[in-house]
Amino acid sequence: MVRTALVTGANRGLGLEFVRQLLARGDHVVATCRHPGKATALTALGAAHPGRLHVLPLDVARETSRAELARELPLVLGENGRLDLLVNNAGVLHSGERFGHLQQALLEDSLSTNAVGPLLLVQVLAPLLRDGDGQHSPVIANLSSQLGSIASVTRFGTPGYAISKAAQNMATAQLAQALAPRGIVVLALHPGWVQTDMGGPQAPDPVDTVVAGMLRLFDATTPAQTGRFFDWQGRTLPW
Ligand code: NAP
Repeated sequence: MVRTALVTGANRGLGLEFVRQLLARGDHVVATCRHPGKATALTALGAAHPGRLHVLPLDVARETSRAELARELPLVLGENGRLDLLVNNAGVLHSGERFGHLQQALLEDSLSTNAVGPLLLVQVLAPLLRDGDGQHSPVIANLSSQLGSIASVTRFGTPGYAISKAAQNMATAQLAQALAPRGIVVLALHPGWVQTDMGGPQAPDPVDTVVAGMLRLFDATTPAQTGRFFDWQGRTLPW
């Protein structure tokens, strides 16, 4: 079965690897990023998979940008086309935050990008998501982090990121309720500590292994799992 997926923040890191693996298995992919003109890796993937990759602009933190994507997407999907998978992958981590020196602008940017943006993106794209049919469950995957787990806090660190991912986790729980009647599964995912620009070169988890693990999880998901928090290997995490 050919599926259609949309990935945010798809020009590098985990987002780019999602696009690569989804194309490799035959899916149609809408890859979004802030600057498609500079997304050379996506341009190369498009050339290698003619007609199966569309690259569209999206700054997830900006309402006008989300609205513009919602206007353009039906043209790409076609009249009856719907999304089977939405990967809310775009995220930001402002490093170097210290207690006593926290800045409102950085906290607000973390919240807009990591929590408010993904929540409102789901809302504006909801009409373009496929409904579950009892056999196949469309999935919204919110890339979260163990650092957003309130139950796991042991030190003061990356507060803007941690607070925004905790807020995103609540958005996942809320969206799961809103979309359950349509059979759409909404998950919060911790991808591990991954070798990307954000994770850094010392991270233990290779990006291809982690993305393959999450795709396996999405394929096997059931409506009973909606609104839950998993790591990339399918282990349940505490909120
Ligand atoms: P990354 O290498 O830093 O890439 C982040 C991506 O998000 C880039 O494509 C970036 O685009 C995009 N982005 C940032 N702000 C955006 C905005 N306002 N609108 C649209 N795109 C935006 O990060 P990553 O490691 O691949 O992380 C992907 C996701 O996994 C994030 O949500 C992150 O929090 C989560 N995560 C990662 C790790 C890890 O160890 N790597 C661990 C836990 C969770 P630009 O190129 O335009 O900046």
